[in-house]
Amino acid sequence: MSLFKLALEKRGLISPKKQTIKSSHAQNCPFCDEDVGFTDSICPKCKRLIDRSTILDEVGKDEKIKNLTNTITDLTNRFDSIKQEILRDLAEQIIEMKRSK
Ligand SMILES: [Zn+2]
Repeated sequence: MSLFKLALEKRGLISPKKQTIKSSHAQNCPFCDEDVGFTDSICPKCKRLIDRSTILDEVGKDEKIKNLTNTITDLTNRFDSIKQEILRDLAEQIIEMKRSK
């Protein structure tokens, strides 16, 4: 199963493939789709880690990083606009002070 499919499943856009419990190959490698034994955590074909919870964790991390990046961008924008406001206020106050002299 591809990471893209996993991401869609996570959002409930597609329903997860129902796992038929077979003792010989209970899962497929998400990278090369090779049949893998239920207790195997490394694909015998492509030698990649196939533990589903690990993969889901990785997908979750990507999502969290994306959200954090958005939050930081948002905060930076807000900070910039606040800074602009403060500078404008200061400039006005300086002008006022010079006028009142
Ligand atoms: Zn594989």
